[in-house]
Amino acid sequence: MLSLNKHSDALLDEHGRICALERYSVLDTQPEPGFEKITSVIKTIFEVPMVAISLIDRERQWFKSIQGFDKSETPRSASFCNHAIKTRECMVIPDASADPRFANSPLVLGPPFVRAYAGAPLETPESYNVGTLCVFDTRPREFNPKEIEVLRNFAGLVVEELELRQAAARDCQTNLLGRHAFAQAVERVLRQAVQSAATASLVIFDLDHFKSVNDTWGHPAGDAVIKAVAATCSEEKRPEDILGRIGGEEFGMIMPNLAGEAAIAAAERMRRVVEEAVAPDWPEIRFTGSFGVADLDPDVANASIWMASADAALYRAKAGGRNRVAT
Ligand code: GH3
Ligand code: MG
Ligand code: MG
Repeated sequence: MLSLNKHSDALLDEHGRICALERYSVLDTQPEPGFEKITSVIKTIFEVPMVAISLIDRERQWFKSIQGFDKSETPRSASFCNHAIKTRECMVIPDASADPRFANSPLVLGPPFVRAYAGAPLETPESYNVGTLCVFDTRPREFNPKEIEVLRNFAGLVVEELELRQAAARDCQTNLLGRHAFAQAVERVLRQAVQSAATASLVIFDLDHFKSVNDTWGHPAGDAVIKAVAATCSEEKRPEDILGRIGGEEFGMIMPNLAGEAAIAAAERMRRVVEEAVAPDWPEIRFTGSFGVADLDPDVANASIWMASADAALYRAKAGGRNRVAT
């Protein structure tokens, strides 16, 4: 009963849904063969001019893969898929011009002149609908139960592909983004922040004298500490912050829409929870970290410059005596 409630509650939890979408770190990424194959097979099976894997972001729908339409996104308000994600079922519109919800949509009245639509929700393992796998036709048409079943099954495949993609990007010891995926996330947040004239801050932190933790307690104890730091920081961060393990005992955190004193305060909170953290089975080990914070200034031209700037701040925190935050 509890899981049933949770299942239906997820449809009303927009904040949780956006967080689930962001965990995939897939928005604004390049086309990938796994997704392209799915839309191309669906286009052949359904004999339709357009197929999309549509992800519903805060204000837009963004297409991870799209066949037969040359836009990478459209406003969320005009989106058929925005309606499709509100249910667990496949949404079928046999004739959009006869449906008051869509008859005046710019996608119906103008290019690509949509008349028929079927969209199967992309339901994550936590029951959030992050988007749809959908087909469009320029003439009215019905979709039979077998076709709906095919669409639903392929929607399941899309979610599996998203999960696999995410697992591959993660460090298996801590389940944080690995170095490469983290650098990509830095690049993405930078681009988005510049586009929307928003602020953002980057923290790079490194455990202090970690060699001596290993030397004193052994390598397995060191591993347990690294895991404890990852778990503690994952719990402390805001849902929109992105954590990565960028080296052995070095971590990164991207904080969108945060800068200046607020970013320093967030890093200071992280420093404190690391200092207070305890590795299960090793309560006697004390450890700390040094933190470097770099705001997204106008002179930050790309991800490597931003990361180098946070790295330089980290160096200052180390040089200043460790267990501290520096800018
Ligand atoms: P500093 O305060 O200057 O950062 O000193 P440090 O000892 O932490 O710095 P250093 O880079 O010399 O040492 C890092 C150590 O972290 C060396 C390496 O063996 C250890 N380390 C890196 N990754 C892991 C890991 O996954 N598990 C364990 N147990 N140790 C690791
Ligand atoms: Mg260190
Ligand atoms: Mg280090």
